Amino acid sequence: MSRPAEMSDYNRIVSDHPAKLTPTETSYVIARENNTGYTCSECLHFYKGNAARNQVCEIVRRPNQLQIESRAACKFWTRTGTRFPLYDRLGVEVKNEK
Ligand code: SF4
Repeated sequence: MSRPAEMSDYNRIVSDHPAKLTPTETSYVIARENNTGYTCSECLHFYKGNAARNQVCEIVRRPNQLQIESRAACKFWTRTGTRFPLYDRLGVEVKNEK
């Protein structure tokens, strides 16, 4: 933005929830034991918000404001943003979560 920010800009940021993908679309899976070595807590897109004390993801949003589980993973797990080792493995099987 190359102009002074206005209140509408502020309101857009604090009120707008950016569109994200669903757990179903991304094959988000919460495994009882995740021994794959790939967990959300190790993913580039995982964020632990101090203010909300909630774990969120830049890519996936769970319904009902459920947080992203540390031990879960989805097909877009990545540490670099360029390599996606689970993309093919989790591409078909989907655990529905509504
Ligand atoms: S593995 Fe998927 S759900 Fe978990 S933090 Fe990464 S992008 Fe988000």
